[in-house]
Amino acid sequence: MVTPLVEMDGDEMTRIIWEKIKQKLILPYVDLKTEYYDLGLRHRDETDDQVTVDAAEAAKRLGVAVKCATITPNAARVVEYGLKKMWRSPNGTIRAILDGTVFRTPILVEGIRPFIPSWKKPIVIARHAYGDVYKAVETKVPAGGEAFITVEKDGEVTQKIKIADFPCAGVVQGMHNYERSIATFAVSCFECALDMKLPLWFSAKDTISKTYDHTFKDIFAEIYEKDYRKKFEEAGIEYFYTLIDDAVARIIRSEGGMIWACKNYDGDVMSDMVANAFGDLAMMTSVLISPDGVYEYEAAHGTVQRHYYAHLRGEKTSTNPVATIYAWTGALRKRGELDGTPELCDFASKLENAVLKAIADGNMTKGLCALSSIPNRRALNTDEFIDAIAARI
Ligand code: NAP
Ligand code: MG
Repeated sequence: MVTPLVEMDGDEMTRIIWEKIKQKLILPYVDLKTEYYDLGLRHRDETDDQVTVDAAEAAKRLGVAVKCATITPNAARVVEYGLKKMWRSPNGTIRAILDGTVFRTPILVEGIRPFIPSWKKPIVIARHAYGDVYKAVETKVPAGGEAFITVEKDGEVTQKIKIADFPCAGVVQGMHNYERSIATFAVSCFECALDMKLPLWFSAKDTISKTYDHTFKDIFAEIYEKDYRKKFEEAGIEYFYTLIDDAVARIIRSEGGMIWACKNYDGDVMSDMVANAFGDLAMMTSVLISPDGVYEYEAAHGTVQRHYYAHLRGEKTSTNPVATIYAWTGALRKRGELDGTPELCDFASKLENAVLKAIADGNMTKGLCALSSIPNRRALNTDEFIDAIAARI
């Protein structure tokens, strides 16, 4: 290794697994260099959450980070950990600083068939993470009411558009987005497509939403023509826009192997659909890519609290470490690419192959065992499974 990775440690069961992965699967083979940030809830509380900001700043400086799952505090956690306050979600804080887009990718393994038989390759969902219905205002309107959109500039009404007359009671909603946010999203998607060497699909409903959704379509098209068409042609991948309903129909019939960029609501719905159709949340990785090319890798699942309490009671748990291992391999490979150290990329692939081989040989955690069709499969606890991987590196 040349440049250190930003290592963001986390909470509960994933924190336990984090250490095991490092000890058994990485440190024996890699002269690991990291800049370590403890994002465990206790340390976030001690530092008034400054550690999360510092970790995100470090990611900006060094370019590649790997993150363990972390607790987003709620009222129960404030009591459980005696917190000074209900700190914000670390992922939210990091995303706000890096200004990125999250791409989620399922890990496909032998013996687990997606519910859609034609799906052979991963489908990566890129969800726009700002605005639309998530930042909407809405209200009930009484019978006889009239609703308008008005736009003011410098105190003057510049536009007033009738939404509807209300012959009976009803509801009304106002939502927005910013061209800057849409452009950032588009750039992250184009960068991710080049990075993963996958075609990029973007879908919306511009035939119905002739200004709102059309603006998304236009911004994507403009940035593509200006900055990416040549790069995509050189990489042998394509970008196209299609209507959301057409995209759904084509995705279901496809064999996978694309990035599907979705507006905020579509991405919310479609990422749950895709994750479940591919099998298991514990087999989903996630990477945050910022428009200026910072990469932060993590598992898509949380801290697996229920297993952690079982672990604290001294029970052996069968917690699936695969997505967390892939967060590490993703980060190591990216670091190797950026530093020109192919041995590091090669190690990342070897570790992933060891995971796939362990599962193909019938070694897996309980959740996967229930989904798998491998004949001689065995449900292992976390340690046994990690050992089975270590034996195959
Ligand atoms: P979770 O940790 O994802 O776990 C929900 C359930 O899914 C688990 O109880 C377990 O089911 C199953 N599961 C998830 N990952 C698994 C794995 N690797 N191996 C085996 N089973 C797995 O979600 P949660 O319990 O709702 O949230 C716990 C904490 O995680 C919360 O404090 C939340 O704030 C945090 N969280 C963090 C992130 C992040 O940092 N990115 C994301 C989501 C949630 P069974 O119990 O049935 O075995
Ligand atoms: Mg959702």
